[in-house]
Amino acid sequence: MRKIDSIDFFYLSMPQIFDIGDGSQDALLVRVTAGDRLGWGECEASPLTTIASLVCPMSHSACKPVAASVLGERIERPEDIAAIHRKVRQNSMDLLQADHALSGIDVALWDLLGQIYEQPVYQLLGAEKAYPKLPYSSLLFGDTPHDTYLKARHAASLGFGAVKFGWGPFGHQGLQHDIDQIVAARDGLGQDRILCVDAGTVWGTDVEEAARRLDVLKACQVTWLEEPFHTHALRTYHALSLRSGPVKLAGGEGAHNEYMAQQMIDFAGVGFIQVDTGRIGGITSAKRVFDHAQASGVTFINHTFTSHLALSASLQVFAGSEEHRLCEHPGQLSTLAYKLTPEHLEPDANGEIRLWERPGLGIAPDLDVMKQYLVDTTITVSGKVIYRTPVL
Ligand SMILES: [Mg+2]
Repeated sequence: MRKIDSIDFFYLSMPQIFDIGDGSQDALLVRVTAGDRLGWGECEASPLTTIASLVCPMSHSACKPVAASVLGERIERPEDIAAIHRKVRQNSMDLLQADHALSGIDVALWDLLGQIYEQPVYQLLGAEKAYPKLPYSSLLFGDTPHDTYLKARHAASLGFGAVKFGWGPFGHQGLQHDIDQIVAARDGLGQDRILCVDAGTVWGTDVEEAARRLDVLKACQVTWLEEPFHTHALRTYHALSLRSGPVKLAGGEGAHNEYMAQQMIDFAGVGFIQVDTGRIGGITSAKRVFDHAQASGVTFINHTFTSHLALSASLQVFAGSEEHRLCEHPGQLSTLAYKLTPEHLEPDANGEIRLWERPGLGIAPDLDVMKQYLVDTTITVSGKVIYRTPVL
């Protein structure tokens, strides 16, 4: 029987972290081994808190370190990963970061299974082929509307058929500023490209403040308004959805398990559900959200703002679907996140991206780059080392 022999978490970081909405400034890579096979994954999370959930001492029977439910478990078939999910959820029920740790482990286990079966992950999930996706370039709003205009023109010149602007000053400088930003984005893109807006939860639970932007969003033919409110404010989302007409609401990146995302589909009135495979419980949980979205007539889209390893993992989930065609493509990665993989999923002449037709995720991180950004970390409890940066 093939068992999980090791789980290693690697904390990587840019030399300096800035207070901006860029989740690619640090990274948490996961390596699992089972016999002679190895898989890689990535968590989208604060690295140290997630490492803590992997190795922390047990607090009680429902608050055990995640590693205790994974090490030594059987890994031969997809069902084995589902069994590990059940065990982690049972044993780490009260450890809130557990789903983030599980996410990277789950991705690495699917990659490892792909190496065993010599198949891409999407095939292991039951898809016959991987359809190309239309990537939207995911960009931060510029500091001024003119900066946003220039960014939009640049994205269009790179061949992107769709662009999303979000975060930055949007929502923080008054109604007129937001109107100017959205108009500038549309002007820079031209009329034919898809434009989406991400408010980054800026209006909390204030439906009226969000509704003041509906006129300009409609006039500029914005496809979706993303995260106007806190992820958990389902009633608030639903209230705005009754007024937003052709501008659909989108959200879900803040869902930290599959049930949260499924409830957002059921009760928030969203037209698009966007989950992060590196947060929600990995490929297993993201696939369950996809299945529920498809059955509910809601469009599934990945949330990915980290490396192209994470991008590949997130695309495997819905690669087999021709209808769910759009995907997020991180367009403004840190040097660390960009260099982490030796190849990238860039748009072709049709503006589409295609997964690598190789086993597992089809890509492994560049170990030399990992060494360059590795944060040397040791955690001791009463003099005993419970975590030390593993050897690459
Ligand atoms: Mg977002």
